[in-house]
Amino acid sequence: MKFDIVVVGGGPAGMAAALKSSEFGYRVALVESSERLGGILLRSIHTGFGLHYFKENLTGGEFSDRLVRKIEKENIEIFLNSYLEKIENGRNKKMKLTTSEGIKEIEAQAVIFATGAREKNRFEIGILGDRTSGIYTAGEAQAMMDLYGILPGERILIVGSGDAGLIMARRFALEGCEVVGVVEILPHPGWSMRNVAQCLYDFDIPLLLEHRVVEIRGRKRVEKALVENLRTGERRWVECDTVIIAAGLIPKVKKLKKIGAEMDEKTGGPIVDEYFQTSVSGIFAAGNCVMINDLVDYAVEQGETAARGADLYIRKLIPKNMREIIAGKYIRYFIPQRVVGDEPFFLYGRIKKEIRDAKIILNGNVIHGIPMARASEMFRFKIRIKIENPTILEAEGEDYTKSEEYGKEEYLNLKRTLITVVPCRNGDLPVVSVKTDKPIPKKLLRDAMRFLSEVEVEAPKEIGDIVVKNILNTGADVVITRRCSKL
Ligand SMILES: Cc1cc2nc3c(=O)[nH]c(=O)nc-3n(C[C@H](O)[C@H](O)[C@H](O)COP(=O)(O)OP(=O)(O)OC[C@H]3O[C@@H](n4cnc5c(N)ncnc54)[C@H](O)[C@@H]3O)c2cc1C
Repeated sequence: MKFDIVVVGGGPAGMAAALKSSEFGYRVALVESSERLGGILLRSIHTGFGLHYFKENLTGGEFSDRLVRKIEKENIEIFLNSYLEKIENGRNKKMKLTTSEGIKEIEAQAVIFATGAREKNRFEIGILGDRTSGIYTAGEAQAMMDLYGILPGERILIVGSGDAGLIMARRFALEGCEVVGVVEILPHPGWSMRNVAQCLYDFDIPLLLEHRVVEIRGRKRVEKALVENLRTGERRWVECDTVIIAAGLIPKVKKLKKIGAEMDEKTGGPIVDEYFQTSVSGIFAAGNCVMINDLVDYAVEQGETAARGADLYIRKLIPKNMREIIAGKYIRYFIPQRVVGDEPFFLYGRIKKEIRDAKIILNGNVIHGIPMARASEMFRFKIRIKIENPTILEAEGEDYTKSEEYGKEEYLNLKRTLITVVPCRNGDLPVVSVKTDKPIPKKLLRDAMRFLSEVEVEAPKEIGDIVVKNILNTGADVVITRRCSKL
C-alpha cells in the first residue's frame, strides 16, 4: 500500500500530525501498536490537559476524544494493533508492520515518528533486591486502575515526585490505600509545588527529598524497601506491599537509530530542525520521542509542525541553510537543535536550575523574560534566527530554589475536582473514568469517593453523560470523561 505520509504512533503528537497531513490533502496512514488511539492520554484520567490548545481544562481522555473525533471525519487509513517492525530508507520509505492480521507492507514519501516514550524501570535507577511481585511502573499501575479497575496494592511506596509519581500518590490515597511516602533523589520536587499541594499535602503524604530507594525485599510479594537519606547517609527499612517506579521517561527511538538518525544524548531523542526533520531526509519526529513534553499541547504543536515539514519536503521546499544552536551553561537541553530556514519557530527546552527573573538570551540579546523558570518545567517561546547569525542560547537570572508560594496558594484553595473511575457494565473496558464538573470542597473528597464506590453505569456512555447529579449537595455533577462503547 502506498501513502504520501505515514505517521507512526497514535498518541496526541501522531494524531495531530496525521490530521494536519490529511488537511494538506495528502494520502495518510496512522499506525498504532495498541488497540486504541490516544497513547498516554488513554490512562490519564486527571485534568490539566488542553489549556493552550483547546483553552479548556480537560482530562487526558477528553483531550484524546476530541482528536479522535476529528480523525474519524478525515480520510485517514488507521492501522490499529499494528507495530512498526522495520523501516528501510530510500527515496520512498518502506515499512513492515506486524499486525493482528499478519505482516503488512506499506510505503510513503515521508514518515513522521510519534512513538512517544517508555518508562524507566527499577534497574535503570539502580534499585537492587528481589525480583518479587508488587513492583510496577507508574504507567502500569495507572493502566491497571484506570482502564481495568484493579488496585495494585494497599501500602504503597512511590519512587519519583514528577507528574507520574504525584498523580499516582493522589489516586492511591483517594482509593483508600496508605501511601507511605514519595521518595525523590533531588532537593526539590519533580513537579510544581501547586501539584505537590494537590497530590501530597491534601492527603498528608510524606515527601522525602534527597532520598533514594536502595533495595526492595520480599518473598512472594514486596515486603519492605530500604530508603537512604542522601544528606546524612542514614538508611531505614520501610514496610510496604507495593513499590511504584515513577522515575521518568525515555524517548522511544530504536527504529530512528537503526535508520541512522543522529541522536542528542541530552534529550535522548533525535536531533531535529525547526520542521522536526531528523538528520535522515524525509524522516520527521514529534512529541515525546523527540523530547519529553510536560504538556500535551506542545506534543500536538510539534506533530502539526512535523506535518508542515513533511508537506514542504514532498514539495521539495525545505530550506537547506543548516545552522546549529549551541547551549550556554544554564541550558539543560532544547529542541530544535538545528535551524534551516528563517521563519519564526517554537523553541522548547529546560534550564538546569530554578531562577527568578529569568532571561532567555540568544546571541547576547534578551529574547524572553519569565518571572520564574523552574528546572522541572519546560520553557517554550517563538523565535526567529536570521541566516547570518551564529546562535548561542543562554539563560540567566537570580538563583531561586523556593517556589513554595504557589504551593501555599493551592493548599489554601479549599476546593478540588474529583477524578476517579466507576465500574461499567457491558463496556469495552470494565471501568469508565469520571470527574466532578466543578470543584467540590476538598474535605468532601473521601465522602464523595465512598458514595461513588456504590455507583455502576451501563454501556454505552458518552463524554459528558451525567452519572450522579449534585453529588453530596455540592452543586457539582459527576460526569463521564472517557467514551465507553458496548461490548
Ligand atoms: C504521568 C503523566 C502525566 C501527564 N500530565 C499531563 C497534564 O496534566 N497535562 C498535559 O498537558 N500533559 C500531561 N502529560 C504530558 C502528555 O501526556 C504527553 O506530553 C503526551 O501524551 C505525549 O504524546 P506523544 O504522542 O508524544 O506520546 P504517547 O502519548 O506516548 O503516544 C505514543 C504512541 O505511539 C505508539 N507506538 C510506539 N511505538 C510504536 C511502534 N513501533 N509502532 C506503532 N505504534 C507505536 C504507542 O502505543 C503510543 O500510543 C503527562 C504525561 C505523563 C507521563
